[in-house]
Amino acid sequence: MKISIDGDLCQGHSVCMAECPEVFQVTEPQDGYPVVTVLVSEPAEALREKVTMAAKYCPNNVIIIED
Ligand code: SF4
Repeated sequence: MKISIDGDLCQGHSVCMAECPEVFQVTEPQDGYPVVTVLVSEPAEALREKVTMAAKYCPNNVIIIED
């Protein structure tokens, strides 16, 4: 499983981090809007359900999962 994001669409809702903090981290720069970072681009299979939930509930459909 490989994770990528469309950073242009991310609005920093942090739903992804709430669902799967092992993979997604949302940080708020001092001079900008919060934005997601993928901590692990190829996470272990054990995290598939959490990653899938993060992608499902991301309001902007930012998260892309490839097999
Ligand atoms: S990836 Fe989706 S849920 Fe995560 S911070 Fe960006 S818009 Fe919000």
